[in-house]
Amino acid sequence: MFRTTRVPLGPRAALCAALALLAVACGKEGSPPGKGPAADKLPHYQVAQGYRLPASATWQRAKRRGHLVVGAKEDQPYLGEKDPATGTYSGFDIEIARMMSASLGFSPQSVRFRTIASANRETALQNGQIDYYVGTYTVNAGRKKLVGFAGPYYLAGQSLLVRKDENDIHGPRDLDGRRVCSAAGSTPYQRIRADYPKADLVAYDTYSVCVDNLLTYQVDAVTTDDAILIGYAAKAPGELKVVGRPFSAEPYGIGVPHGDTTLRFALDDALEAREKNGDWKKAYEATLGLSGVPAPAPPAIDRYPAS
Ligand code: GLU
Repeated sequence: MFRTTRVPLGPRAALCAALALLAVACGKEGSPPGKGPAADKLPHYQVAQGYRLPASATWQRAKRRGHLVVGAKEDQPYLGEKDPATGTYSGFDIEIARMMSASLGFSPQSVRFRTIASANRETALQNGQIDYYVGTYTVNAGRKKLVGFAGPYYLAGQSLLVRKDENDIHGPRDLDGRRVCSAAGSTPYQRIRADYPKADLVAYDTYSVCVDNLLTYQVDAVTTDDAILIGYAAKAPGELKVVGRPFSAEPYGIGVPHGDTTLRFALDDALEAREKNGDWKKAYEATLGLSGVPAPAPPAIDRYPAS
């Protein structure tokens, strides 16, 4: 279904080695280097004592298991990043996941993160591989038929990342005949395919592979949410820039198993409480805020009825 392009490894690896000297994206699995947020700056979330949610099958199963399993991204700077040396995840989405788990009565030690790519999120929730998912996951009507969404907790918009030496791409209309990369199964991929069919669109599992391809001149642009692209640009300021204005609304929700409305409403309550008590803002400032964008007001929570 998705067109993918194989990039010859030899020259690419050599170029990556050279670019590594410039501290730009070209990690082993395409992740940009960088330590992410300072652990001592991250907020501590009060863990709810004696919390119970017996009407949620997901919560019950996690309680019996003794820990929560949370789906996330591992290569998105400031949002969801895994330190390859320690295996620790960090970023704004990770903080949202942690504050939610504290509200559900789980201590930080009883939360395990699992990397799930954009194209596999619905399946992972449907199969019970994860209890919930926090990873730049846009709420939309099509996905709501397959999974539930608590939140939203953040509003992003689709944008474009190009090399610093690119002067002809300012918005999606300039993509005609140009090679543009996005992640399979993502809303930005679908939007380019539907609305800008003259763009030469390629898909990979992750955006960091797209970024590697941008740096090595295999593609001309990477498209996804501005929040994600700003992170890549911040890690390679001499090489990459985000151009134009956001051209979509991407409200980020917490994905939950479709039928578990009890869990969804509990997460809506938890988000509301964490926004009110300042935890949301502290988490933002310690993570995504490091890219230079001040904390916005969080979007209104959409507590839609059970379907
Ligand atoms: N927010 C968009 C989506 O959910 C793009 C980012 C991503 O792939 O996670 O598809």
